[in-house]
Amino acid sequence: MTARPRTALSGERLDVFCPSDGKAFASIAASGAEDVDRAAAAAARAFEGPWRKVSALERGRMLTRLSALVKKHAEELAALESRDTGKPARQGRADAAVTERYYEFYGGAADKLMGDQIPFLDGFTALTLREPHGVVAGIIPWNYPLQIGARVLGAALAMGNTLVLKPAEDASLTTIRIAELALEAGIPEGVVNVVTGLGATAGAALSRHGQVDYVTFTGSPMTGTAIQQAAAVNNRGVTMELGGKSPQIVFADADLVKALPVIVNAIIQNGGQTCSAGSRVLIEKKIYQPVAEALAHRFAQLTAGPHVADLDLGPMVNRRQAERVAAMIAAAKEAGIPILAEGKIAPDAPSGGYYVAPALFGSVDPMAAIAQEEVFGPVLSLLPFDDEDDAIRIANSTEFGLVAGVWTADGGRQHRVAKAVRAGQVWVNSYGAGGGVELPFGGFKKSGHGREKGLEALYDMSATKTIVFNHG
Ligand code: NAP
Ligand code: MG
Repeated sequence: MTARPRTALSGERLDVFCPSDGKAFASIAASGAEDVDRAAAAAARAFEGPWRKVSALERGRMLTRLSALVKKHAEELAALESRDTGKPARQGRADAAVTERYYEFYGGAADKLMGDQIPFLDGFTALTLREPHGVVAGIIPWNYPLQIGARVLGAALAMGNTLVLKPAEDASLTTIRIAELALEAGIPEGVVNVVTGLGATAGAALSRHGQVDYVTFTGSPMTGTAIQQAAAVNNRGVTMELGGKSPQIVFADADLVKALPVIVNAIIQNGGQTCSAGSRVLIEKKIYQPVAEALAHRFAQLTAGPHVADLDLGPMVNRRQAERVAAMIAAAKEAGIPILAEGKIAPDAPSGGYYVAPALFGSVDPMAAIAQEEVFGPVLSLLPFDDEDDAIRIANSTEFGLVAGVWTADGGRQHRVAKAVRAGQVWVNSYGAGGGVELPFGGFKKSGHGREKGLEALYDMSATKTIVFNHG
């Protein structure tokens, strides 16, 4: 029997709030350790059962069918994601489209990862296989549950693992729906399991569960540490995607017409609640003033409002996040950091919603808290720099290392800076906050370890088995 995501054995439930108005509109099961046991056991049984014998080709076809179902239900999934997280309607639609693409990509990739044949001693043949870990636990955050769920589910199933997904208590609804669509796509019962509930109970029980063979997590560094410690009890492997403080470096020869809208979008997309948000903009001193003025002009026009209004940004995901972001803005102002512009909250935004007006800070000291800590909100810091060396030094001056952007027409500098910046992904004359299903993604330093997305994720979601034949 598959663990049903809709009810907990205790019968306990949690209200689901819409961030746009702060009102409860649904509820989810508040799973406990016993529900996690049930889900992990179902995943383990499915792994040891017929799933092991399903060919890579067939697994790929199942994921391809899931992709088609996501496309068929795109409007429904997009609307549900927007209501649950408060993200503007067009962002919900974009997330559904990327989700469809993830399943398409991993559906096609399932039978494309090759092992090796290794030159070895005379009389022997040595080769490697890519083997699934077994039961993968995917603990995912609330910012992009459809997309992040898809990059975990797609890669895990492509390699033949089974899965227990633990979505965030603030945004579980589309994950529950995807599990239903997975069954409809022909993915057998028990292969995809969902446990909803609190991180401290359901998440913690899952990460230390003895039947879990591998853990993949996206979220905060602090929770990442707790999950690694829990998984270490069973000596299980982990992939950690832990956010960032990603710099965009703008040199004086940059094409500003191209750069400025991308720079604004990279921090405003999803209200800044994006692990790869471009939250620091480093600007060469000789163009600092005009660039700061142009960004201030744009920031002053930005408006936050309910998801259905489809404005520049929606609310923060919950009250705690809204208060946290507002407190970080207030602390930066109090520290005397110049505020260059603030956006607006739509006058008709419901008063119970979790809104924060975008804020642009100028002449920010690279060591200031607002330039060092992940705000996870619509807050952009502008940092002037002298020359290329200074830019690289400032770019690398945080504990994070997830993504970076480099804006320059100088080809040599593009290569030098891209190599010198410590980030898992570097965009030259472009920036894709969260973008690129095909592109390996993950961090250096406190941003985590392991890689998701692209074919690279298939290595994290599997282990090498070496087989040696002695044929005399
Ligand atoms: P979080 O604690 O890292 O939550 C992420 C996921 O981990 C959720 O599913 C959460 O469940 C679960 N979780 C929480 N505690 C757990 C534990 N002890 N064991 C296992 N799982 C656990 O993030 P948050 O508290 O929602 O947000 C705080 C900050 O994290 C944000 O301000 C932001 O800076 C950062 N963040 C980063 C990302 C990213 O994409 N890199 C995403 C989200 C947040 P519940 O939510 O149900 O408790
Ligand atoms: Mg919600």
